[in-house]
Amino acid sequence: MGRRNMMGMWSRSILALAIVAATTAPSISAQDTNPADGEGLVVDYPVFNPVQPPGGYLAALEAGTRRPDGRPGADYWQQWVDYDIDVKIEPETALVTASETITVRNDTPHERPVIVLHLYQNVFAEGSPRGRGTTITGGMTLSRVTAGGVDLEELPPRQFFGQQQRGPQEPGFRVNETLAVISLPEPLAPGGVVEIEVDWSFVVSGSGGFRMGHLNHEIFQLAQWYPQVAVFDDVFGQDQSPYLGNGEFYTDYGDFTVDVTVPEGWLVVGTGMLTNPDEVLHPEAVRTLASAPALDTVVKVVSVADREAGRATLPSDDGWHTWTLEAEMVRDFAIAAGGTYVWHVTGAETGHEQGRVLIQNVFDPRMDHWAPATEYAQHAIEFFSDYILPYPYPQATAAMGPPEVSGMEYPMITFITHQAADRGLNGVVTHELSHFWMPMIVGTKEMAYAWMDEGLTTYNTSLSMADYYETPVSRPGDDRGYQMIVQMEMQEPIMGHMDHAEHQFGASIAAYGKPGMLMHTMRHMIGQEKFDAFYKDYAATWAFKHPMPWDFFAMASEAAGTDLDWFWQPWFYGEATLDQAIDEVVPGAGSAEVTVSNLSSGVMPVEMTLEYTDGSTETVVWPPSVWAGTRTTTRAVPTSGELTKVTIDADGNYPDLDRSNNEWEAVDG
Ligand SMILES: [Zn+2]
Repeated sequence: MGRRNMMGMWSRSILALAIVAATTAPSISAQDTNPADGEGLVVDYPVFNPVQPPGGYLAALEAGTRRPDGRPGADYWQQWVDYDIDVKIEPETALVTASETITVRNDTPHERPVIVLHLYQNVFAEGSPRGRGTTITGGMTLSRVTAGGVDLEELPPRQFFGQQQRGPQEPGFRVNETLAVISLPEPLAPGGVVEIEVDWSFVVSGSGGFRMGHLNHEIFQLAQWYPQVAVFDDVFGQDQSPYLGNGEFYTDYGDFTVDVTVPEGWLVVGTGMLTNPDEVLHPEAVRTLASAPALDTVVKVVSVADREAGRATLPSDDGWHTWTLEAEMVRDFAIAAGGTYVWHVTGAETGHEQGRVLIQNVFDPRMDHWAPATEYAQHAIEFFSDYILPYPYPQATAAMGPPEVSGMEYPMITFITHQAADRGLNGVVTHELSHFWMPMIVGTKEMAYAWMDEGLTTYNTSLSMADYYETPVSRPGDDRGYQMIVQMEMQEPIMGHMDHAEHQFGASIAAYGKPGMLMHTMRHMIGQEKFDAFYKDYAATWAFKHPMPWDFFAMASEAAGTDLDWFWQPWFYGEATLDQAIDEVVPGAGSAEVTVSNLSSGVMPVEMTLEYTDGSTETVVWPPSVWAGTRTTTRAVPTSGELTKVTIDADGNYPDLDRSNNEWEAVDG
């Protein structure tokens, strides 16, 4: 019986429950066993428990800034913010001083009496609440704040955090831990522009900091380092999330010009391109740097031999050099500066209209296990350009740093601890560079929905690593991290907030491994081709914008051709687990009665491989709707021979926790 005929027969049956996805002998390929075309997902009566987006999201649909199909609406808007920063790093004291001009373009339809700034460095201040331990640095000192050319006074903080923006506002600014609320002298009208100037300083945390720091005063990595405008969006309005350390950030797009002053002989890389190479580098180094994008091999802009001032870098009159970096259309800016760095470069093909891009790797050559990071970065940029979206920025940098940075992503640059090596280093480089897409290009709200960047990045990384080492992609059924948190009873919901979790370990699995695993399951369920097309569409649709989870859900449901609320509810909002078990198989003439139980809380399709005495196999998929209102279900399954074995999820595409009950075998004779 051919596939079409089998389909016809079953769709005419009243319940349309069983779907045979492939036919007979000798055996069917892995591709054929895939319930492609969304067939396994047909839900022919109302979904179990519809997802209810928050009121702000529903209002955005109403206002036409978002569409029900998960795309930006005709009236979509977001704030645009440009930064111009002059910063000096003094290695001996670890003091960073800067003056900054912020230009806020109010591309929103709302009048804005206040602008909120993140002062992330205050997470290191005495008394600041935080989700993890750290050393105390005193936080950030603001020595001057102006708005629209008017000098602003510091006002006492309001008693309660939620009152910051309420009531009449007098011009001035209030600092409340990691946030500053600026009351503008004049409200900013829609379409208006206001300039905010801030002079500030802080001391870089040497050890026990996180996501930034310095290594023996020889390498500095600056992130969460400048007063940054908080997002004002169409769903939640003014973001006022404090920085507590675990949740990361949520930022708007803009252009940056950053002048970084460091001692002569030091090297500076960061978000953006170096625009004054002739002022800081020897002509030979300038030529090497310029030639790199065209290359496939690795070359050295600065090697160990020419690291001193006056060699690869120019001598200076006063002992200092100012490096100018410029970046367009980025949502953040980070800097790595080192007195002990060497600088390796190569190029990468991205398929983007801008042509090949520059790949950079800076590291301390005493730790030369880091040298392969250049090639790892090259592979990652090329792989993700192909799988997700052509890389739109002119360069990508891996920068070695202190243990405190672990592995942390910023636009065009990642900080990675010097401790990573070999496959581990490749894994971190690939993971962090995948973040250049999510959340740097696709600008999600990480603080609240960490899975939208970490989960998708975990998924992306697994594909890229499998491609690099030419190994199979890891299966959801083998996911040890997920299995561990279930055993330890530490599950947290994927849609939970990183800073509000009971179990940090559970929260990290909920942000990384579990959603990463579920992307593989989803890809299998809706078919690889459809999933991959959806994934590209999602990234291109939301590039340089702010997608919310409900946008992702809607676009994925559209790709699947069916509502996936049955999937989001238990797996993304709930703490579901999966344990499907075969209770009984009663073979008959031309069909078998198969009884399957759902022993846990999670709903998934039931995918069974039937094996026959002649060695042929077939795959049968029951849609998730078989679980409506029941934990045990018996269905007639058409058979095309004498059954020897039936296995649930033989290929490990689902996160079934107990596979000992997934098989039925015929008893001989
Ligand atoms: Zn990550």
